[in-house]
Amino acid sequence: MEKRSKEREKEVLKLWEQAKTEECYLEHADSVPVIRFHAFDGIDFVNAAFSTRFGGISTGYLSSLNLGFGRGDSEETVSENYRLFCESIGVLPEYLVLSDQVHHTEIAVVTEKDTCKEMVAKKLQGIDGLMTDRANVCLATSYADCVPLFFADPVERVVAASHSGWRGTVAKMGAKTVHKMQEQFGCEKKNIIAVIGPSICQECYEVSQDVMNALKEQYSEEQMKEIVYCSSKEEADKKKYQLNLWKANALQLKEAGLLKENIHISGICTCCNSKLLFSHRASKGKRGNLNGFISLLD
Ligand SMILES: [Zn+2]
Repeated sequence: MEKRSKEREKEVLKLWEQAKTEECYLEHADSVPVIRFHAFDGIDFVNAAFSTRFGGISTGYLSSLNLGFGRGDSEETVSENYRLFCESIGVLPEYLVLSDQVHHTEIAVVTEKDTCKEMVAKKLQGIDGLMTDRANVCLATSYADCVPLFFADPVERVVAASHSGWRGTVAKMGAKTVHKMQEQFGCEKKNIIAVIGPSICQECYEVSQDVMNALKEQYSEEQMKEIVYCSSKEEADKKKYQLNLWKANALQLKEAGLLKENIHISGICTCCNSKLLFSHRASKGKRGNLNGFISLLD
């Protein structure tokens, strides 16, 4: 059960104090907390949000706002959590578009026909990126350490969300999303604003040689120096590396043509803040899902 509301609000605010960065702010700490991004402040027809662990009805290690189906909660519980969060961000649950993410780079352009309607469920399969130019369609993607990428073009009125873990990052999910925005909607790169959302930080993210090898195929030697380090001689001997997924995605988006000032790293680590946010690493897999949401308003 959720703790009594005053006590819980105090706890949320304390955890937020540790997690917060200049790029983000928190709304509704007293009910269903919502993380917002200042990068989208200037566009009044974009509604972008990120969930926390608080404000839902799940219990135990899924406590309390688990937005992941198939992680141990009943479908009813997860649906209720979606309803509660949607209410907190002013979106109707019927407008949600959910997909089954598979760490690939398929991106779907979605419309009203893809929305959940009467039942919150994943209607799309094998899709890691969502894009729309329609109002009343809310793109919802799931995370617990992987990198959420949010995009908005205020000129063409297009939004997108992409799931970019290390596999997605190596496969250039961010760059592919930018290209698709250009191709499908004529978006100009200079107008696109991107936010790299809450996810695992470099200090928390140790990877092994196979990940390094895959990265080296896609990133130059110069870039590799910017995104990877070894924490000690011993770690280097064990071929363990610390990977900066935030920087890797930022470099990729810059290379894809976005302006440096339009690429925002939220800077919030899910693993460092695992009491506030679900983290796969911190919980060793016993965790719920956070969600990112982005939609256009009429
Ligand atoms: Zn961290």
